[in-house]
This record gives sequence, C-alpha cells and structure tokens, in this order.
Amino acid sequence: LRSAFRTKVPFRVGRLCCYSSSSVPTTKLFIDGKFVESKSSEWLDIHNPATNEVITCVPKATQEEMLAAVDSCSRAFRSWSETSILARQQVFLRYQQLIKDNIKELAKAITVEQGKTLADAEGDVFRGLQVVEHTCSITSLMLGETLPSITKDMDTYTYRLPLGVCAGIAPFNFPAMIPLWMFPMGMVCGNTYLLKPSERVPTCAMLLAKMLQDAGAPDGTLNIIHGQHDAVNFICDHPAIKAISFVGSNQAGEYIYERGSKNGKRVQSNMGAKNHGVVMPDANKENTLNQLVGAAFGAAGQRCMALSTAILVGEARSWLPELVERAKALRVDAGDQPGADLGPLISPQARNRVCSLIQSGVEEGAKLLLDGRNIKVKGYENGNFVGPTILGNVTPQMKCYTEEIFGPVLVVLEADSLDNAISLVNKNPYGNGTAIFTTNGATARKYTHEVDVGQVGVNVPIPVPLPMFSFTGSRGSFRGDTNFYGKQGIQFYTQIKTVTAQWKAEDASLKSPAVTMPT
Ligand code: NAD
Repeated sequence: LRSAFRTKVPFRVGRLCCYSSSSVPTTKLFIDGKFVESKSSEWLDIHNPATNEVITCVPKATQEEMLAAVDSCSRAFRSWSETSILARQQVFLRYQQLIKDNIKELAKAITVEQGKTLADAEGDVFRGLQVVEHTCSITSLMLGETLPSITKDMDTYTYRLPLGVCAGIAPFNFPAMIPLWMFPMGMVCGNTYLLKPSERVPTCAMLLAKMLQDAGAPDGTLNIIHGQHDAVNFICDHPAIKAISFVGSNQAGEYIYERGSKNGKRVQSNMGAKNHGVVMPDANKENTLNQLVGAAFGAAGQRCMALSTAILVGEARSWLPELVERAKALRVDAGDQPGADLGPLISPQARNRVCSLIQSGVEEGAKLLLDGRNIKVKGYENGNFVGPTILGNVTPQMKCYTEEIFGPVLVVLEADSLDNAISLVNKNPYGNGTAIFTTNGATARKYTHEVDVGQVGVNVPIPVPLPMFSFTGSRGSFRGDTNFYGKQGIQFYTQIKTVTAQWKAEDASLKSPAVTMPT
C-alpha cells in the first residue's frame, strides 16, 4: 500500500514539520521522544476533504511498536511522577506559550486534513489551549485535604497522586481541542500518556507532540501510536494502562467503556449527541436566528455540540422562512478560502450517509425547506460538500431525528408549549447539550431546572464550559463517572492516598497492645 503512494504533497506544515523529507509524506509514530517511521505493512491514505487528494499516509502501528510505546510510558512514569510539581507546571507554562505562538500553523494543519474553515480551526486550537492554560494552576488543583487532631496527637491528611500510564483515544472533529483535553491534564498530574489520535487527522497531534517536547517534557512522558481497532483493543487490554479517556461515537465509546472497565481501568467516554435548541416566541428574533444558524451549520455540523435540532414553540413557528433565508446565505467553500462559512464533510462516506439521512426524512414525510445535497463548489468539484439543509415538519419517530446526522442539517420540530418542548428533549436518549432562547427569566429557569441534559445554554447556542468547569454531557452522551477537564478531570487522573499519623510525646506511649478496634 505504502509503495503505491505517490501523490504530490499539496501542503507542508512548515518548521514544525513531522513528515519525512522524501516525496512520500508518511505520518510518524512518536515513541520514547523520537518521531519514528512505522514498520507496519498496513497504511491508510488520508485525504484533504475539499479535494480528496491524498495528503499523508498513516500507519496502523504494529504490536511491537505499541508495546514499545507503552513500555516507554511505564519507564518515564517512574521519574515523571517524582518530578516536582513546580517543574511539571513549568513545562505546561512553556507549552501554552508555544501553542499560542503556533496557532495559525496548527489551524492550517487542521483545515487541510479535517476541512473546517481556518477561523474555526483557530477556535479548535484556542479551546484546547484554554485547557492547557488551566493545567498551569496544578499547584492549587492538586491540593489535598487535612484534618488536624482527629484524636489526641493524631492528624489525617490526603495526597492526590497520579495513576500511572493513561491513554486517550480521539475523534476526527476537533484535532487540537480534544487531544488537549486529554494528555495535558493527565501529564500535569504526574501520569505519562499514550495518545491515539483519530487516524483521519493525525498531523495536528504530531505537531502538538513536537511542541510539548520543545517545552521540555521528558522523553517517554507522551507517546503517540496510530491505528484503528487493533490499537484501540491494545489500549483497552494492556495491564500497564490505568485509565482511558475516549471521545467519539457511541458505537466505539460503549465498546471501549465496557472493554476497558472489564479490564479494571477507569474509563471516561464522551459520545454522540442530538442537541435541541428551544425557541420561545418571546426570544430576541434577530439574535436567536443568527445563533441557531451558526450553531447548526458551523463546522458543517460536525461538532458534538452542534444545535442540530430546533423546537419552535408557539408563534416562533412563523420564523421558519427567515431561518431558511439566513441558512441559504451561508457560503460553502474549501476551509482555506476567504469568506467560507462552512467547509466539506470529512469523507465521501460521511457525505453519502448525511445525504441518505436527508432522503429518509423526505420519505418519512418531513418537508425539505432547504436542500444542500447537490451543491457544487467551484474549483473543488471533488470535495465532500453538503450545503446547509433544513427539514421541517419532523416528528420524533423519523430516522433523521433518532440518529445523529453529524452534517449541516437542521431538523425542525414544533411544540405548543414549553412543557411539551421539555418533554421532547427529555425523551431523546442523548444528553450532551441544549439551549433555550427566551427573554423571560422564569422560562429560562424552568427550562434549566427541568431539562435532563448535562450542558444547558440560555441564549448561548454552544454552551461548552470553560476549563475551570468540566464538560458535563450526560445520559446517552456519556459513560463514566468523572467528566473531562476542570476539577472532575483532575479527579479522573488522580487517586487519593489518606494518611493518618500520630506523633505523641514519649511518656504517652501505650502500656499494652491495643487489640480492640481503635475508636
Ligand atoms: P469514531 O467513534 O468513529 O472515532 C473515534 C475514535 O475511536 C477514533 O480514534 C477511532 O479510531 C476509534 N474507533 C472508531 N470506530 C471504532 C470501533 N468500532 N471500535 C473501536 N474504536 C473505534 O468518532 P468520529 O467519527 O471520529 O467522531 C465523531 C463522533 O464523536 C460523533 O458521534 C460526535 O458526536 C462525537 N464527539 C463527541 C464529543 C463529546 O465530547 N461528547 C466531542 C467530539 C465528538
């Protein structure tokens, strides 16, 4: 496969280049501080979604390579976990600066592999950078607790300690942000880290690894392997790996949660979504329609927090024609083109899947108010583009409602009252995010209290919490018991040791053995 790969490289990643200097742009593994060429016989071609040209090929790491990566993590853990917390903090202080300095370069690498617009790709890096910045307060975040004098001369205190080797399995849609939710949090706590980026967008993770090395992370503290199911199974099964962070689809997330947990590992699994935006008739119309259109179609709908479902309540139903007009005005183009509002989908398969879900809606009785299936983008005729699409008259039984579409498609339902809207949202199995648009405080309060969704926006369409909070998707969108980043992220990547110590004066020594339970 690899020898058949002869495509000219359309884009080079500049001074942080991780590719070989030959004409074959292979993606390396990152093992024990070195970017190494895989010896694998199995390689995957990775395409630019706007052109479908091959831009790199990525290996499925061999068992020996994956073992070498995890062994490197295990060796590095011995010294990294004993490295002073101030020294670990310094690495991440330097790291956040390097990411800031290279944000445009990272964004370019994202756009060429993932397809999103350059501005959106910068947002992807920025939201990950914020997590790195937050790790720099680790000296406060890792504080334990103390309780002096629990009895005479006796004190109890706790330490938060790292777990060992941790692993992350990432999706394609946020090539920077999601890996940055994972390894910086794990490593700053004193763990070492094995990352498996999405095989569809490997380059950004490699650039981030190089920057981390430049920031002073010792060899072996981060290792990167590439691959698909075999790499995932390896991570779920290897006894040295103590915890797994997963973000991606429900199919993979449920599987990894079960397989990893069975093997005694901590697993946090952030999965799919169907996020509802409830539009009340008293909402600020201009603001609401713009928010809705931006959150439904931005990143071509390939965000787990995309507002992919609108519920128009009462008189807000009459806003539908204006919603369609605004969606129609969005510009679909290659992500690196100035003025592009949304780029292509990740693959031809994703495009076909989205188009068939639109068709299923039509066949089940939905009204196709805007059809983006036949869009042609000048100069990018081979790209995986779908334009903004709106399906009206959607009912909860339709496949376009029951499945996560993960494309630029907004499905619109109607409700007579707020109670009916809440009931619809709560019957949906997913619980990642939701938003209500209203100018009435009591309506907003009722919604936030009664809706069973982990992340709620009030006039905020994509309520992804900042890193001092945690990413709290719930129900069918999450498996595990501690969420990503923030205080919960620190809990996930640490274990507690509780020490009970007695220091008493010599003359207060026990006179005989204490054989009863201490009270
Ligand atoms: P995906 O599940 O296809 O891939 C994610 C990772 O799992 C990849 O590294 C992949 O190699 C691996 N994988 C894929 N299929 C697998 C399988 N059957 N068994 C084992 N491993 C497998 O997800 P994706 O298409 O890359 O990402 C899109 C999905 O991720 C959407 O469902 C989206 O909602 C979800 N997502 C969720 C969040 C969140 O925080 N809740 C954030 C981003 C994306």
